[in-house]
Amino acid sequence: MNSLRTYDIKYLKGIGPRRAELLKKELGISTGYDLVRHFPTHYLDRSKIYTIRELNDEMPYVQLRGRFVSFNTIGEGTKMRLVGLFSDGTATMEVVWFRRIRPIRESLTVGTEYVLFGKPSSYMGIKQMSHPEIDLPSSAMAQQPVRGVYPLTERLRNANITSRQFSAWIATLLASRKTIVDPLPQSVIAENKLMPLGEALAEIHNPTDSERLSRAKLRLKFDELIYIQVDMLRRSMRRKNISIGHKLTRVGEVFNRFYKECLPFDLTGAQKRVIKEIRADVNTGRQMNRLVQGDVGSGKTLVALMCMLLAVDNGLQACLMAPTEILATQHFETISSMLGSLGVRVALLTGSTGKRERQSIHEGLRDGTLSILIGTHAVIEDTVQFKQLGFVVIDEQHRFGVAQRAKLWAKNEISPHVLVMTATPIPRTLAMTVYGDLDVSVIDELPPGRKPVETLLRYDEQRAQVYRAVYGQLRLGRQVYIVYPLIEENEKLDLRSLEEGYQIICDTFKDYKVAFVHGRMKPSEKDYQMNLFASHQADILVATTVIEVGVNVPNASVMIIENAERFGLSQLHQLRGRVGRGADQSYCILMSKHQIAKTTRQRLELMTQTSDGFLIAEADMQMRGPGDIEGTMQSGIPFELHIANLATDGQIIQMARRAAEHLIDKDPTLSLPENSLFARELAAASSGIRDWSRIS
Ligand code: ADP
Ligand code: MG
Repeated sequence: MNSLRTYDIKYLKGIGPRRAELLKKELGISTGYDLVRHFPTHYLDRSKIYTIRELNDEMPYVQLRGRFVSFNTIGEGTKMRLVGLFSDGTATMEVVWFRRIRPIRESLTVGTEYVLFGKPSSYMGIKQMSHPEIDLPSSAMAQQPVRGVYPLTERLRNANITSRQFSAWIATLLASRKTIVDPLPQSVIAENKLMPLGEALAEIHNPTDSERLSRAKLRLKFDELIYIQVDMLRRSMRRKNISIGHKLTRVGEVFNRFYKECLPFDLTGAQKRVIKEIRADVNTGRQMNRLVQGDVGSGKTLVALMCMLLAVDNGLQACLMAPTEILATQHFETISSMLGSLGVRVALLTGSTGKRERQSIHEGLRDGTLSILIGTHAVIEDTVQFKQLGFVVIDEQHRFGVAQRAKLWAKNEISPHVLVMTATPIPRTLAMTVYGDLDVSVIDELPPGRKPVETLLRYDEQRAQVYRAVYGQLRLGRQVYIVYPLIEENEKLDLRSLEEGYQIICDTFKDYKVAFVHGRMKPSEKDYQMNLFASHQADILVATTVIEVGVNVPNASVMIIENAERFGLSQLHQLRGRVGRGADQSYCILMSKHQIAKTTRQRLELMTQTSDGFLIAEADMQMRGPGDIEGTMQSGIPFELHIANLATDGQIIQMARRAAEHLIDKDPTLSLPENSLFARELAAASSGIRDWSRIS
């Protein structure tokens, strides 16, 4: 593989300097390695011949067999085009060329039988195909039946670079090497029955049959994934060996008094277990990096608080970062009131903290009299200096940027322990990859006495009935959330529908007070409105997804989600988690228009059937593809994925994880001779990448 990395593709037959330049500019391909890693996005079956009569615009690339009846040049100058009338006996269509008109016209004759390959379209009711690939039947038959389709850009197409050329170039390149050196250790190849690398590359670009093609894909995906797994395992090993952390050995007065005097309920079994796991971890003298996953309402905040108290008992400071001001404020309020008269000084720092207050916070942090700081990303500004920061909690981590988190470390001689809490359950295999170097704790139990939220799917025409039910709840003194989507591309329109919705709700529920929150509001206004609801001065909260994370109003018993079909499952699950926090039966009503795609209906129906966050996250990934989850996650891994898909390749991830564990067990430093090629390849693949273990 290494020689491919240094091979300049301009020397490859059929490419040359000009095209090489273009390929580099358009696709970033400059070496043989880049070229063989430019994989087809899908494949076309060229064994089937379609008829012109059956064509429609929806069809992908198709193959036709027939004859040209005539050719005409139409228009002038840059508008000039060549139109050939093509017939296969079932119907006639136009074949259109906008470029290279002369040579094309000269290469084709009326009456000769050709095989055309292209994407059908239509123009004013006339079937068309532009710039198809054209072969004589004999040579069309000689080609492989299954062909790869490569991602190309407009510029490449204009330069007459086609998918077919890609497969040809790669075939030439691979044929010119006697062997492709396979960097995977033989033991890994044998144990996992993998196709050799050279064979897999040849097959993926020029498939011979579907069974071999799927083995080739498996091999190449496995490659990408095992590098990640080995890398993650080694990072976590290195961290455990080197990274020095504060040793929190003492369980002292603050922790014990809190436990005995302040805690209004018993911890759940899962909370106890996770606290134990964390305590064991912070006792080792190494820095802890732990992810706590727990479904909405599982009581993560309390776990975080008790850990912070542990730090305080050991003479250190702690800090909790939340993604929004609302959330930070709420954490501050809950935590301050829980701590009561314990004598631990807690402060809130957000973007809207006043200057005087800010100054006093800064002082308290520097002289160590302030023990716990709660806030938004304001807490990681450069001006914020701790005397001795020992424990950091990052709540709802998926909203925090990587760079923001990294900033925390820079400030301290000894890195603080880090606890990342997420309520978006991450499917196991994905967590294995993206957080492969973190230790994971799971709070898999809800506090007792919670009634599961009853979830209903209702259509727009049932609105009156839904509002009647809402009335019923309001009369019982409960509160109601009504959530509207706010999606960026459509922001104006959505904002209007939100404001209209608000008006309708005000008109419908005249006897009740309605609060109103959306992301475009000033923070102070947002807080004011949120407070109206939290303090029960308002009965209904009309909002966008700003309330998605964390907000806690136990008296709210109804969550209505408008246009539920526009939300992802994990998001719906988060929203639903806002109710069912008190002792009363709660309801989540998913409103949707009647006309929705079958898969959308299935998604919404799944929500009505389960409240298992992990199951929902898994289903969300399967149905939507990696989507949001992967978007943030992909940026979390130090390798580019060309073919493996974190959402759908769960089994291969597991396979790669096991293989990586075997490999590292036997050769932790990858210094055995049989692993040296692999080690080099790993270094090359991850070069220039930041040290992820320092980031989360
Ligand atoms: P999340 O995991 O979603 O952040 P929270 O920490 O906000 O959950 O907890 C949800 C609610 O459950 C809070 O009102 C909290 O006080 C309560 N709670 C937490 N732990 C327990 C427990 N062991 N028993 C009863 N209620 C609890
Ligand atoms: Mg929370």
